Amino acid sequence: MSDAGGCELCGRPTPGRDCARCGTTVCRMHFDSQLRLCIECAQKRTPDDRRGDTSHL
Ligand SMILES: [Zn+2]
Ligand SMILES: [Zn+2]
Repeated sequence: MSDAGGCELCGRPTPGRDCARCGTTVCRMHFDSQLRLCIECAQKRTPDDRRGDTSHL
């Protein structure tokens, strides 16, 4: 457990942003502002996570 005030990925002191998924505090470098996720969650999140494509039924 680490106190707030640092990126949990690179360890740099940063105001930090909280991942909307895992709550990890990361710096702007390790934060995807579009997904509002840390890069870890952003990478886990597959691009083809869209359903409703009925072309293969
Ligand atoms: Zn970082
Ligand atoms: Zn995350």
